[in-house]
Amino acid sequence: MDRLAIVVPCYNEEEVLHIAAEAFRGVLDDLIKKQKIAEDSFVLFVNDGSKDKTWELIEEEHAAHPMQIRGVKLAGNVGHQFALTAGLMTAKDMCDIAVSIDADLQDDIKAIEEMVDKFHEGNDIVYGVRSDRSSDTFFKRFTAQSFYKLMGGMGVKTVYNHADFRLMSKLALEQFAQYGESNLFLRGIVPTIGYQTACVYYERKERVAGETKYPLKKMLALAFNGITSFSIKPISLITWLGVLIIIGSILAAIYALISYFTGNVVQGWTSLILSIWFIGGVQLLAIGMVGQYIGKIYVEVKHRPRYNIEKILQ
Ligand code: UDP
Ligand code: MG
Repeated sequence: MDRLAIVVPCYNEEEVLHIAAEAFRGVLDDLIKKQKIAEDSFVLFVNDGSKDKTWELIEEEHAAHPMQIRGVKLAGNVGHQFALTAGLMTAKDMCDIAVSIDADLQDDIKAIEEMVDKFHEGNDIVYGVRSDRSSDTFFKRFTAQSFYKLMGGMGVKTVYNHADFRLMSKLALEQFAQYGESNLFLRGIVPTIGYQTACVYYERKERVAGETKYPLKKMLALAFNGITSFSIKPISLITWLGVLIIIGSILAAIYALISYFTGNVVQGWTSLILSIWFIGGVQLLAIGMVGQYIGKIYVEVKHRPRYNIEKILQ
């Protein structure tokens, strides 16, 4: 029977912790009863340097349910993506499947059972996808959806409307462990791992208590980090802009020369305007070219695995 770990990053979640712990234990009990997961499955709370009583509450929960509730205390606040990674990497050696979910119960815990079913059908990664965002404010919905579209436009493969609610098998976790990058954007990395994947759809709810730990500033930072960690397209765009401006300068040259010969220009204007356009274009192109190399260096230093093997027949 497969051992399940529910990994939950928590930052200042004292208001929801007990509610969440109870809900997740309920899921474990239910799945154990249905013989879908092993009896020693557990919930792993990761305290991401909370300033409130979150850690004390995790300790309390662990004392009351030592088998089912475990905790990891990070030395300080490292942000959601790293906290989640810390949890997944800790869980990796103790479980066969890990489901990551937020502490605020916005993601439907009923979907976990479906995820486990999909795992048993042979999927190594199962994405939780929001089918309905009506509980989000218009602003959140709009910014989030623009975000997925922009990512797509920049050539970053992400699963539309999927955040970090997902199941990963031990195999997928072991491959994920090979990604040593510090600019961590899980939603971009996981789809590059490969393997058979599936989606489970659910309705996103309101936070049960407390307030969002993702203000606009952090959301923009996440989006920016997502793009710059995955795509060197912005550099290519600059190169193309350089090319366009050089073409523009040639057109400007024709215009300036015509003006020069028809005689209705101030002395010195022709050479000046031509140099400005041309040099501007050449400079952009040069920056773009240098950028292309930096882009390559960037990809190299990430040291991402070049391929992941799923099976070998021998
Ligand atoms: N979180 C974290 N570290 C942070 C910020 C958030 O571990 O620095 C956790 C938080 O406790 C929650 C999850 O990340 O479990 C998602 O945060 P939140 O629900 O506030 O984001 P939203 O759903 O509003 O986008
Ligand atoms: Mg939330």
